[in-house]
Amino acid sequence: MAKTSSDTGSKKPSKSSTKPPKTTKPPKTPPPPASLLINAWEQDPGASAAADGGTLIQRSVTQLSATPLPTKITHPSAAPAAGVYMPATAEFRYWACADALRRGSDFWGGLIAGVQWQVGATLPVDLDHGQDLNAYYDRVGLRFFHGSVRGRTFYSGESPDVVCHELGHALLDAIKPQLWDAASLEVAAFHESFGDMSALLTALQLPSVRHSALAETQGVLYRSSALSRLAEQLGWAIRQSYPDAVESDCLRNAVNSFSYTAPQHLPSSGPASVLSAEAHSFSRVFTAAFFEGLAGMFKAQPSQDENGLLRASHDAATLLVAGIGSAAVVPAFYSQVAAQMILAAKQQFAALSYAQALKSAFVRHGILSPAAAATTETASPRGMAEPAAELARVSLSVAEYGLSDEEVHVYAPSQAAQLAVAGGARGMGSSPDTAPTDAARAFLEHLLRRGRLKPQEEKGGQTRGLVARSTAPDTHETHTHELRREGKDLVLRRLRIDCGPYCTHH
Ligand SMILES: [Zn+2]
Repeated sequence: MAKTSSDTGSKKPSKSSTKPPKTTKPPKTPPPPASLLINAWEQDPGASAAADGGTLIQRSVTQLSATPLPTKITHPSAAPAAGVYMPATAEFRYWACADALRRGSDFWGGLIAGVQWQVGATLPVDLDHGQDLNAYYDRVGLRFFHGSVRGRTFYSGESPDVVCHELGHALLDAIKPQLWDAASLEVAAFHESFGDMSALLTALQLPSVRHSALAETQGVLYRSSALSRLAEQLGWAIRQSYPDAVESDCLRNAVNSFSYTAPQHLPSSGPASVLSAEAHSFSRVFTAAFFEGLAGMFKAQPSQDENGLLRASHDAATLLVAGIGSAAVVPAFYSQVAAQMILAAKQQFAALSYAQALKSAFVRHGILSPAAAATTETASPRGMAEPAAELARVSLSVAEYGLSDEEVHVYAPSQAAQLAVAGGARGMGSSPDTAPTDAARAFLEHLLRRGRLKPQEEKGGQTRGLVARSTAPDTHETHTHELRREGKDLVLRRLRIDCGPYCTHH
């Protein structure tokens, strides 16, 4: 059974025109009419290792079309009447997704003035795009799916963790569009990390989540909890078929001890217990460092309570956005974002010890070497990077891969870094720099190994033989990239950011 708690975010009590009877307690604020309330999951329909047990909350109905960052559920095309529906109904799913979308838009839109979706004014959302244990963002909109496991059907679009993760991809694409086509394992992983950070930060905007997170962790936020565990139900569903592909009690956990290694030195895939170059796996390093940094920023608050946690969540998101804006797109992208976040903390929040909290977290997770962290002591922050600055297009010789052309053109992570920082090497010191073209080649080969590059169509309907996946869905495409003919060049372009890589598309 689902627990319930009330979290309507309702406004101040309305004044009553009649005086309360003298002998009884003042009447409670009358609840809003039932039609103005909806039911939603607080964070996820699942709980720990179980498929069920998430907390239900009641919320005031909101407008998706409102600013900032309007969204629109395009499938189903008509909104059901707002109301308090029970889980496992189409009406519940609609309003549960809508509530998470609105919360994500309000949170990010409140931090970044004037930001607009890549796709235009309104971000379209397909609540059920077909059968898959999956969700993805392309430059059309967000797509959620349904999947059946052990006689049960799950809908990825009813989990706020999953919805706010996908919304995070669309948001990051809006604020740093150069990342979209970047041929870089670390950039692709950062996109996944941003999705998970979006889920964590958006969840923290609910008073009930702040309350339960502080209670469950006894104020030490960087401990495994319902907050740090992401997408428990999707994790359960995947675990039934691929037990080593996900954590034992969730999809991913923001509390983990993975330490940075340059991803081109990691295996291209692996079980959840090891770090691999696969974007979701490698994303866990940055997510954990950020979450530990957030915990340190909370400790720096004058009040160790829900208000302090709310403030820390806003400030951490502010610094994250500032760091992303200033970070150069280079092979060691994590270290650039981390260093720029520390510089922004020193500049914007000099009175609080945020910079120290972030520095400690990034060094502990190997994203900054101790020497790199020391350079943030003397460096001055750089202004926001030029938003329109495209990455350099470089050609790679690919004769050995059996593609149609001898060379392909890719957008290499080749921006000029203003800060010479790097992640920690294994053992001691800093990771050596990777040349942008080497990082791009590692990325292309990763796509080939994982079967994520869409086969090239040839005359007569033949496709060039690339690695096929054993269980790719046949109802929709899940390739992340294609080689597109542009003039006489063959250019590597991203098609979508696919978020269900572990199981269904090995
Ligand atoms: Zn994702």
